[in-house]
Amino acid sequence: MPTVPVLDTAFFRHWLELAADTVRRESARLTELDSPIGDADHGTNMDRGFTAARLAVLQDPPQSPGGLLVAVGRTLISSVGGASGPLYGTALRRAGLTLGDAPEATPPELGEALAAAVAAVRELGGAEPGDKTMVDALLPASQAYTGALADGLGVAAALDAAAGAALAGAEATVPLLARKGRASYLGERSIGHQDPGATSAALLVGCLRDAAEARPGADGPGADGQHADGPGADGPEERR
Ligand code: ADP
Ligand code: MG
Repeated sequence: MPTVPVLDTAFFRHWLELAADTVRRESARLTELDSPIGDADHGTNMDRGFTAARLAVLQDPPQSPGGLLVAVGRTLISSVGGASGPLYGTALRRAGLTLGDAPEATPPELGEALAAAVAAVRELGGAEPGDKTMVDALLPASQAYTGALADGLGVAAALDAAAGAALAGAEATVPLLARKGRASYLGERSIGHQDPGATSAALLVGCLRDAAEARPGADGPGADGQHADGPGADGPEERR
């Protein structure tokens, strides 16, 4: 019988772990993308923000998915100087507020949270789709997720669709002319480069997909914060 991922606090904590690891691993590439059309700091910004968020959540573990996303958002806003910090921070904060303090989110509620995150970025940054920003990955991801649920797919398949749409959206920023953020200062010269923020957005959505695939129904490493014996042979993947 297929297990269905539970969108509880442990799921989102696992997402945060994956996101922090992924952003660190991809930091050099994100900064490289931010070199020709920005100021070569996007990888550093994302790494600093997610490292701080991981620490904040470890030090003061939130008790709900909404609480966790609000804490991550708040930390990104306070720890990242670049435009991406307030944008991602506000997006995650808004997503968390949408989820409230329920112990777990339903799949449609995750869809509402994703939509709220995209709306927050658009409100704060004023970017339209096609302006060569993170919106070009986040909006198709949100739409693909909601569309997949409407088609009767489960949450893991819907997140897979979202991750694919985000990646395609990020790649489709290459020929676009930047109309927001630093890249817009370059005008026509912004054409031909992939947007760093759209690229990191695709990574973050990909981590949601990976969190759903890797840990069906599991309750996360150190869910009670008290695993004295550390990661062992009977790792959390084996638990149900
Ligand atoms: P900064 O541009 O301040 O150096 P980062 O390099 O961390 O910040 O992030 C740059 C990314 O932020 C861009 O690639 C773009 O995706 C995103 N971005 C910048 N301005 C906006 C905006 N107004 N709306 C949406 N996304 C934006
Ligand atoms: Mg930058």
